[in-house]
Amino acid sequence: MIVMDLGGTHLRGAVVNAKGHFGRSIKKIVGVNRSQKAIISFIGEVYKNLSDGENMALSLGIPGIVSAKTGIVFSSPHFPQWKNFKMRSELQKKLKVPVALDNDANLIALGEHKKGAARDWPTFLMVTLGTGIGGAIVIDSKIFHGTLGFAGEFGHICINPKGPICSCGGRGCLELYASASGLKRLVRTSLQGGKTPPLLKSIPRSQLGETLFILAQKKNRGVQKILDQFGFDLGIGLATLVNVTGIQKIVIGGGLLSLSPFYWKAMRQSFKAHIYRKVGQETLFRKGKLGDEAGLVGAALI
Ligand SMILES: [Zn+2]
Repeated sequence: MIVMDLGGTHLRGAVVNAKGHFGRSIKKIVGVNRSQKAIISFIGEVYKNLSDGENMALSLGIPGIVSAKTGIVFSSPHFPQWKNFKMRSELQKKLKVPVALDNDANLIALGEHKKGAARDWPTFLMVTLGTGIGGAIVIDSKIFHGTLGFAGEFGHICINPKGPICSCGGRGCLELYASASGLKRLVRTSLQGGKTPPLLKSIPRSQLGETLFILAQKKNRGVQKILDQFGFDLGIGLATLVNVTGIQKIVIGGGLLSLSPFYWKAMRQSFKAHIYRKVGQETLFRKGKLGDEAGLVGAALI
């Protein structure tokens, strides 16, 4: 089969054989034209390249509000033009092979369960910290999709009803605080207060994580303060998650995991402060192990 993971900037793909072993792989930049039609033909090209004329089923992870059951993508933060996109049927029509799709964080969770940090956890929560926040609920080794098919949108837990407006229409969502865009906002506010190195002023978002890492490593106080705030906000969201679900095992993944040495402590402290005590005492946290590969590993499992 062929597996793919569509992100905001790249489409990654690979061939997987019947035994689950990975073969040829590819990573392509997503073009400027992000319409539904353009993405279908882009995926078609990558499929053709990987399949080499063979008929292979396709399984792919999509960022956004996705129903795995119907194959419809209701909306995606990276592809604002999409609306009720019947992606699975469009792809099946184009490729003439069976297609399965699911939310990218759900597939990352399955990947971490199969080969990564959650191999011995049949039931756990997955939280991915990247441009936004992704989430998944795994119960007895299966993704819990909920009634509408997209349970686990943890990024839209409200942690500040008076906070900024979110792309979902709500206010003060966790995603506005504990993600790369949240970090960018924290940096901006901190710069205005004059407490952060001006070096951060001109850094593009793609290099923000790396720059913060270097400065935090050098024990820059302003940057550590930003990351403490990040950890604090994340801890509030995680406490809500565990209070509601009663699932006391959490895997954290995504690009911002690289900064975890500098926010982990604040996150744990805030989690402890905001959770029902008995539940909180027994909650375990792990860091994702598969990095960028997790989504592709998971795609091979649906
Ligand atoms: Zn929101």
